[in-house]
Amino acid sequence: MVSTPLGNLEDITQRALRTLREVDAIACEDTRRTKSLLRNYGIRTPLVSCHDHNEKTRAADICNRILRGESFALVTDAGTPTISDPGYRVVRAVVAAGIRVVPVPGPCAAVTALAASGLPTDAFLFRGFLPRRRGKRLTALQELRRTRATLVLFEAPHRILATLADIQSTFPDSQVVVAREMTKLHEEFLRGTAAEIRRSLAERSAVRGEMVILVAPGGKLSDAPQGSLPDRVRELQKAGCERMEAIKIAAKELGMHKREAYALLTGKGSED
Ligand code: SAM
Repeated sequence: MVSTPLGNLEDITQRALRTLREVDAIACEDTRRTKSLLRNYGIRTPLVSCHDHNEKTRAADICNRILRGESFALVTDAGTPTISDPGYRVVRAVVAAGIRVVPVPGPCAAVTALAASGLPTDAFLFRGFLPRRRGKRLTALQELRRTRATLVLFEAPHRILATLADIQSTFPDSQVVVAREMTKLHEEFLRGTAAEIRRSLAERSAVRGEMVILVAPGGKLSDAPQGSLPDRVRELQKAGCERMEAIKIAAKELGMHKREAYALLTGKGSED
């Protein structure tokens, strides 16, 4: 089971490349995409398609071929197979057949976004894609309100504004991070409440790219990313805010107390 890059072709391990080169065949989600990925590394291993619609029968074929002595790698279009991606049925069949599953770890959008989010990482709940229908999505979010962990969600660009609106109504005070286009040219991390991020995305002529949404537990950041405080204060001052006002707003955005933010910036106690 081999993880592949999320975007940046350099994000592939030596072991992944060797495995993909040495196996007899690679089971992949989309043969065209994997072929073009492998071309970058000069790998010409034969491909077998294995996607949501044929995975059940493919799983049995793959097991039989492995039992006859062939070796297989399993990849998807990007990231780690089985994580909101095909592969679960193959892994389950392989395990049931008594064949060893060997993970060759690498990128996974959920964990990459969480690690860079600045939100608590001690407990997180990966929920993948929420339901597409609004009613079901709101119900799913309501159920998640009880959790005391950072939520990690995948979302498609054409649904991001609707989903942020629903997060806004279920988690109005929570700190949210949207990790967009990670490892790619336009990588960015948008931080704030769901309402603030939604507003900033809605101002764009189009919202494109791949996105992970993270929602902090308890409506506040427990460990605010300190590096971003001075930048945000500077930004707000440039936009016309008085310094103390800018510190107050930035502190609120980062889930910090105003005094704590002031002390961090100046090394002194608060002026008021
Ligand atoms: N199995 C994959 C993994 O391990 O990352 C995830 C596959 S899932 C079908 C695709 C979703 O992952 C996208 O809709 C987006 O939510 C997220 N994603 C994938 N690549 C991303 C990237 N470069 N930046 C942000 N999110 C990404």
